[in-house]
Amino acid sequence: MEGDGERLRQRGRGTWFDRCGELAITEHNNPKCDTCARGGSCGLDCTVSRLLCPKCGATA
Ligand SMILES: [Zn+2]
Ligand SMILES: [Zn+2]
Repeated sequence: MEGDGERLRQRGRGTWFDRCGELAITEHNNPKCDTCARGGSCGLDCTVSRLLCPKCGATA
């Protein structure tokens, strides 16, 4: 049994897909990293705090 963290993959900034192919729901409750806080972009979705697949229920 693999961990749910292995199941979810990022496809571009702010877009995550579960391994089952469903677009995951994201919650953005984390603070921005230093780069983003200064108005830059780290290229990562650094504010994502939680991911949920509405189809199979996987979370990360
Ligand atoms: Zn960032
Ligand atoms: Zn899924």
